[in-house]
Amino acid sequence: MNPTLTHPYIPYGKQSITQADIDAVVAVLQSDWLTQGPAIERFEQAVATHTGAVHGVAVNSATSALHIACLSLGLGPGDWLWTSPNTFVASANVGLYCGAQVDFVDIDPRTYNLRVESLADKLEHAEAAGRLPKVVVPVHFAGQSCEMADIHRLSQRYGFAILEDGSHAVGASYQGQSVGDGRYSDLTVFSFHPVKIITTGEGGLVTTNRSNLYEKLMRLRSHGITREPRLMTEAAHGPWYYQQLELGLNYRITDIQAALGISQMRRLQEFVDRRRVLAARYDDLLEGLPLTLPWQHPETQSSWHLYVVRLHLESLDKSHRQVFESLRHAGIGVNLHYIPVHTQPYYQSLGFQWGDFPQAEQYYREAISLPLYYGLTEADQDRVVHRLQEVLH
Ligand SMILES: *Cc1c(COP(=O)(O)O)cnc(C)c1O
Repeated sequence: MNPTLTHPYIPYGKQSITQADIDAVVAVLQSDWLTQGPAIERFEQAVATHTGAVHGVAVNSATSALHIACLSLGLGPGDWLWTSPNTFVASANVGLYCGAQVDFVDIDPRTYNLRVESLADKLEHAEAAGRLPKVVVPVHFAGQSCEMADIHRLSQRYGFAILEDGSHAVGASYQGQSVGDGRYSDLTVFSFHPVKIITTGEGGLVTTNRSNLYEKLMRLRSHGITREPRLMTEAAHGPWYYQQLELGLNYRITDIQAALGISQMRRLQEFVDRRRVLAARYDDLLEGLPLTLPWQHPETQSSWHLYVVRLHLESLDKSHRQVFESLRHAGIGVNLHYIPVHTQPYYQSLGFQWGDFPQAEQYYREAISLPLYYGLTEADQDRVVHRLQEVLH
């Protein structure tokens, strides 16, 4: 019998929506502003205040946020953006949107984040070759911060900008301070896609402490247009007047989405606390199985977007794919984060090959993301664990 008929499917991630969220959205629908109204600024304030950053700029996705963040840093043709191969394609694609070239830094086999020693080596070679990156994008994989103090030290020596991809890391901290506070970077991006920590349906946000970048981001998300007299090149022609100062985009988020975001932010701590409890529970329940469980750097406190296990394939009589498929057939929506970006056909067409970033590739051959989200019950989690025990026995 197909077990999915007797048990509901357990996805790997899922949003949590309350009546308060619904009420917040309905209130905007009944108001005068569906977009470009007051909810957006309030949402930006809520996220900026949470992180400790001075500014927040909300947009329609984290991909858009990464794109205008790169543009605000002046990334363009002739420049290089470096990121981790163990990420969603967007972290790298945004460099190409700007006309820059993209390269990767292999991952740390314990954290699955970009490895600081590999970055240092690569920078040394790049300096000798005159090809230093303009922007480095550390991705806080699964919600665990990269080692930002070390990356920041390297940025001061080699002169690159740091754009943190914190898509997984809303609510995470590093050295006791919230990810996104800008202590060790120029800009940080968050995602509010429904599988992430909080949601706006689609949405993203950039935090920064740098006023010049903030002003640029505000223009870039809306066609490069300003209505602020002090930024204009000449006096206003009248009350209707605005100026386009550069080539921007329409990356605006709606007030409907921002209202959902404000409401979700109120439960951020609750969301992250629950994820931490569930992750600790997986740690206990999975002990002794032929798996590598997530290792946590002592200076980080993850928001636990993902709980990833690595299979000890040498002690199993099943392949990675067989284990994955048995879980899927049992109605357990395991997933795989990530296919190394440099192995995607598009990136291969740019010259990358299998073998270029061996740690990310080895990780990919063994990794499985287990279901983890706010509404996951202990009974569901037990089902995931029991099935995994059966498959791996
Ligand atoms: C989800 C995600 C993105 C893109 O987010 P969107 O809001 O869907 O555009 C970028 N980077 C990482 C690491 C992500 O997980």
